[in-house]
Amino acid sequence: MHRQYIAYYTWLGDELITVPDFPAWVCDICGRCEYDENALTRLTLLLSPNAGKNLSSNLRLRKRENVKSKLQRPSQPE
Ligand SMILES: [Zn+2]
Repeated sequence: MHRQYIAYYTWLGDELITVPDFPAWVCDICGRCEYDENALTRLTLLLSPNAGKNLSSNLRLRKRENVKSKLQRPSQPE
């Protein structure tokens, strides 16, 4: 298994959340991939049901950007 950054997709209510460069572990031999547990926990907290309630579309957009920036390594060039 080696570390790789892949796109992660999940549904928040009826909205599809996309997280580019999500940390994951990919197996060289069988190609199986598992998302990084710490990153998943952080993402779950960010996307918790309470956090998703009563948000305007503007706030949702901003939250999606937060998810991206928090999960990306600072050294990574954009
Ligand atoms: Zn394997």
